[in-house]
Amino acid sequence: MSHIYQPVMLKVLLENYGEASVDQIASALLTYDQSQVEYYGTRTKQMVGKVLTKNGVVEPIKSGRATKGYRLNSEALTEAQRASLIVKCDNSISDYLDKRGDRIWQHRASESGYVSGSTRYNVLKRAKYRCELCGAHESQIALHVDHIVPRSKGGPDDLSNFQALCQTCNTNKRAEDDTNFRGVLNSYRHREVGCIFCELEAERIISENELCVAIKDAFPVTDHHTLIIPKRHVSDYFELYQPERNAIDQMLHEQRQSILGQDDKVTGFNVGINAGASAGQTVFHVHVHLIPRRKDDVEDPRGGVRGVIPTKQDYLRENRPPSPLDY
Ligand code: AMP
Ligand code: ZN
Repeated sequence: MSHIYQPVMLKVLLENYGEASVDQIASALLTYDQSQVEYYGTRTKQMVGKVLTKNGVVEPIKSGRATKGYRLNSEALTEAQRASLIVKCDNSISDYLDKRGDRIWQHRASESGYVSGSTRYNVLKRAKYRCELCGAHESQIALHVDHIVPRSKGGPDDLSNFQALCQTCNTNKRAEDDTNFRGVLNSYRHREVGCIFCELEAERIISENELCVAIKDAFPVTDHHTLIIPKRHVSDYFELYQPERNAIDQMLHEQRQSILGQDDKVTGFNVGINAGASAGQTVFHVHVHLIPRRKDDVEDPRGGVRGVIPTKQDYLRENRPPSPLDY
């Protein structure tokens, strides 16, 4: 077994005489997620434990100055009293949940580092359930969803500002927060003097996210020809970091939607990158061309990007079986 998942699930099923709900299994998994346990440990000590201690309902169990647990401040309870008090607690929890529903967890959304369930799902799905630094799969090691630019440094909660990191890469990143990681953040800020895409005037930028921008191509192949450009100066597409690729991919989708919304004649797109002078690159700061296409904008569009070698564009024409008319 490569993870705790299977034994935890089997244990829950065994404990419940062979059958358990998805929520029961998920809750059991959650209890092994140390980051969650630590989070609620802090909540216990700083909030609920403090209040119940102040009200004389519990007292802390100390080890030196640290609080290790809590003890009820009551005389010994009979089994019946204990059972009836547990029912009272359950009723009180249900009443609160019925009244407030999921909103009771909303306060967590404003905390630094908190990632909502749907964001987590989308980031992991986008990363194909692999660490975006080392490539480890979720089945091998637990994956964390992490802010690229931390909240404390102004990083937003946009999908473009999240990455999936395995526990090891995330821990290393944290340990080196002030050295290596700052280096990565700084490299995202790298600009080259004299590069036209590093020195774009603000009004040219039609959209931006954390790591890339979109502009209109100055010499459009077709109307709405758009360039998606990473903010970091880097000449070669293959030198991009995975989070930059994510940001560009997200921007491509956004710009495609925007173009479709502006022009109902658009029926297709060519998406292309010229990587290297021999492949036709003329501006040596990575950019992805998003070229809208319309029905009949050329006589025969077949082959599309194969047209980089014009005589090879239409492979159907070249490779069709010989017909009697050829002889
Ligand atoms: P490539 O040949 O793939 O490097 O593409 C460079 C693209 O940048 C071409 O499509 C140009 O039309 C476009 N381009 C060149 N100069 C500018 C500029 N100042 N602003 C916007 N687009 C530009
Ligand atoms: Zn540049």
